[in-house]
Amino acid sequence: MQEKKKKILTGNFGPPIDDDQNTMTAGGSGPAMLQDTHLVEKLAHFDRERIPERVVHAKGAGAGGFFEVTHDVRDYTKAKFLSKVGKRTEVFARFSTVGGEKGSADAERDPRGFAVKFYTEEGNYDFVGNNTPVFFIRDPLKFPDFIHTQKRNPATNLKDPDMFWDFLSLTPESIHQVTILFSDRGTPKSYRYMNGYSGHTFMWYNGKGERSWVKIHFETEQGIQNLNREEARHMCGQDADHATRDLYQAIESGDFPAWKVYVQIMTPEEVEKYRFNSFDVTKVWLHGDASLRPVGRMVLNRNSENYFAEVEQAAFSPGNLVPGIAPSPDRMLQGRIFSYPDTHRHRLGPNYHLLLVNSAKAAKSNNYQRDGLMRCDDNAGAGPNYYPNSFGGPSPYPEAAYPALKVSGKTGRHPYSHPNDDFVQPGELYRRVMSEQDRTHLIGNIVDHLGGAKKRIQLRQTALFYKVDPEYGSRVAQGLNLDLKEIRRLVGMTQEERVKATSG
Ligand code: NDP
Repeated sequence: MQEKKKKILTGNFGPPIDDDQNTMTAGGSGPAMLQDTHLVEKLAHFDRERIPERVVHAKGAGAGGFFEVTHDVRDYTKAKFLSKVGKRTEVFARFSTVGGEKGSADAERDPRGFAVKFYTEEGNYDFVGNNTPVFFIRDPLKFPDFIHTQKRNPATNLKDPDMFWDFLSLTPESIHQVTILFSDRGTPKSYRYMNGYSGHTFMWYNGKGERSWVKIHFETEQGIQNLNREEARHMCGQDADHATRDLYQAIESGDFPAWKVYVQIMTPEEVEKYRFNSFDVTKVWLHGDASLRPVGRMVLNRNSENYFAEVEQAAFSPGNLVPGIAPSPDRMLQGRIFSYPDTHRHRLGPNYHLLLVNSAKAAKSNNYQRDGLMRCDDNAGAGPNYYPNSFGGPSPYPEAAYPALKVSGKTGRHPYSHPNDDFVQPGELYRRVMSEQDRTHLIGNIVDHLGGAKKRIQLRQTALFYKVDPEYGSRVAQGLNLDLKEIRRLVGMTQEERVKATSG
């Protein structure tokens, strides 16, 4: 707690308070008096201290810092904050777990949120990634269902391995993310020791309107470090806030964490021809196909003076973009572009953009949005509140339009193209990238968790591991004492047949 110079205690509207220890009563032994406005105000405010918890990413830690450009990327983007080597932009970052409640343990197995707000001169740009380069699903229609399965059973109010694995085994595109999540990367040593990935593909375009597609990577300079299953379990009991504590203490002691920022870039033609769907967030762009090109470096060097003011009220959206950066047709991204600001309006109110941590710092917000709950600036004063107007109000800036995408086809509920390659990349990861120790930990972590689900769900999920790699599936089957012949029989079926054969 910071020591401050003594000031007079006041009420919310500024009057001095005479006593903060003794409620006003009628006589020494009589009841409390309603005219004790200090008591009423203090209790009433306390009653309203909690705001709605984030449905996802509820438990988090954050810090401020800066981003510095280290390499020239002007050929690809006209974003001003990336326009000059050496240019610095103020940032605020928030890291989080996903499924747990606000009081849950930092060491739980879960993807980690990795969100960074860049306060640029062209408005705030939000990078809203995870510590994994892919996601469980690629269609936002599935998102609420998926999250329900990571939370609590509606009857028991307990986390439920049946719900968890039932959904995943019925959603084969999740297998890549499941393989990463159940490796030791699912339990990072702390927020400082993990990478951040955009996951989604974004458009970058330069001053000539030439466009490229990019994926963004933040690579930790501290090195990847993880907890193994036993260490993570122990940490959950010993210190539920270990990653929050670690980030705060490192910055407090001057050991500022840093990340190098890279982009993978593909031309529109390369994306068109790529063997994987480039806009499918369950897939990466293999490094051999698109190398990591350095862009800059982020350093976190400022702890928040007040957690609620900054970390809790921070509101990110993958739709907060600046000229030079635009969305891709990735459907999950499109869903998030709606859902993030929507949840902030619910959680923080329609004027959440005016909260200090969220408001533009290096740019100015200037528009005709007015009024609403908790409008806490001058509400644009006496200026016109409609457009068009002839009173000098702000007008649109056509140069801010991003290059148009050509699309064709019929409206309808179309599945993603390239649907049959969900097992290729996790296979690469299992066979080529992981060490034997990584594989042993992966199998152990899966067996430990999947072992809590019903046998028919274990069988269905293990068939998916087998489809990634027969050795992977066989080792999980062995760990769970499942009949390998039965697994092979399920692997030979279509997903529909497999579901039928393993339904209750
Ligand atoms: P490379 O063979 O060039 O490099 C392997 C990548 O895998 C590195 O980025 C490494 O991260 C990361 N990695 C290592 N262990 C794990 C793990 N347990 N869980 C997740 N990632 C891990 O990769 P390719 O591009 O050829 O892709 C091969 C596979 O690697 C992919 O199918 C994907 O599963 C995984 N991967 C790929 C990424 C990409 O953007 N291309 C990013 C992350 C994973 P680091 O170097 O930091 O140790």
